[in-house]
Amino acid sequence: MIVIYPGSFDPVTKGHMDIIERVSKKFEKVIVAVLVNSEKKTLFTLEEREKILENEIKSYGLSNVEVERFDGLLVDFAREHNSNIVVRGLRAISDYEYELQIAHINSDLYNELETIFLVAKAEYSYISSSVVKEIASYNGDISSFVSKNVEKEIKKKQD
Ligand code: ADP
Repeated sequence: MIVIYPGSFDPVTKGHMDIIERVSKKFEKVIVAVLVNSEKKTLFTLEEREKILENEIKSYGLSNVEVERFDGLLVDFAREHNSNIVVRGLRAISDYEYELQIAHINSDLYNELETIFLVAKAEYSYISSSVVKEIASYNGDISSFVSKNVEKEIKKKQD
């Protein structure tokens, strides 16, 4: 079974990697789908976000995880990749409302598509890519939220 984990990953955090690692142990293959045309303005380009993710996945030693870009509707991406399972991470109740709406819409558009939610690990449940970027912009310590490599990439952007 192939599972899709979509997001912007701008940049990938330890919270995202925890979800990817957990899901990779339960499914045959995980496709991390990196959003091309996010409405949000991103700090990292699409190519950078993909590269950073690929490095993380390699350093975690996850051989059944692939990174692919996606543009358009998630349901079309899922069909094209012979998948009918999407995974999302739930950090707090504040994620739930939005996630529920998207899950219902996707299920309307593609009946067989199931959205499964993984509860974020407590220690990562308050981390988001945007909070990490904000802390970094004030030179705060982000080492417990992202890997050394991601930290380095963020620093490069600040130079
Ligand atoms: P989006 O822009 O679609 O919210 P993100 O890259 O921020 O994309 O997140 C992708 C997925 O990862 C979402 O399901 C989000 O809830 C989840 N996620 C984000 N941060 C964490 C975290 N710290 N722990 C677990 N899941 C997370």
